[in-house]
Amino acid sequence: MAGEKINYEYITEYLHQILPETTGYLRAMEEYANKNDVPIIHKEMKAFLEVLCKVKKPDRILEIGSAIGYSASCMALACGNCCQITTIERDSDMTTLAINNFEKLGLSDQIRIIEGDAVEVLSCLTSKYDMIFIDAAKGYYNEFFEYAINLINDGGLIISDNVLYKGMTAEDSIVKRRQKTIVGRMREYLIMLCNHKKLTTSVIPIGDGVAVSIYNERGNDIE
Ligand code: SAH
Ligand code: MG
Repeated sequence: MAGEKINYEYITEYLHQILPETTGYLRAMEEYANKNDVPIIHKEMKAFLEVLCKVKKPDRILEIGSAIGYSASCMALACGNCCQITTIERDSDMTTLAINNFEKLGLSDQIRIIEGDAVEVLSCLTSKYDMIFIDAAKGYYNEFFEYAINLINDGGLIISDNVLYKGMTAEDSIVKRRQKTIVGRMREYLIMLCNHKKLTTSVIPIGDGVAVSIYNERGNDIE
């Protein structure tokens, strides 16, 4: 078992090759992230998120885990300026970088960043969102979800990044001992997502694995 990569190397390389290079300031953000080991969304995930944004046309997006604000910026640019984004980040250095990046991209009016631990911040939010992007500490997705499910509008999308966690979620033999707890939690999370009565979920093996769930308030069971 190879591990580390979700997809065959040649497929990932091919997908990276056919997608256009990012230009301008977003490109500078990618370079900063690569140099400083900031785990921003992969290129094919960026394209997928942009497609989801353009299909869903959300008025309000919530993001858990901003880092330098790369994915929030990608979503803001894909949605156009009618969309408001709230993004949560607990690291103050990252928050400072993200605020600066939003300014450079002219997105400060569109994106609000809240510094703090996501569970604490989420417990204070009351208005609902059309799209929620979960991309923070992998061991806490279950906790984040408990809030997310109450903050999503009917027909809204909950997108969970890194759910295949370098393949470890799918295969015991590549799970490193240190990651055992996180992997166990991620497996529980995916099973819950896939079997939730009010969600329709698709797990897609691109990037580090992404789950897309649509929320249906009345439930999926046809009477
Ligand atoms: N979404 C970003 C990358 C986020 S990386 C992008 O693709 O551009 C994950 C971020 O989540 C890190 O910056 C980390 O500090 C933050 N994070 C992890 N656990 C968190 C928590 N419990 N509350 C808030 N932020 C958290
Ligand atoms: Mg991620």
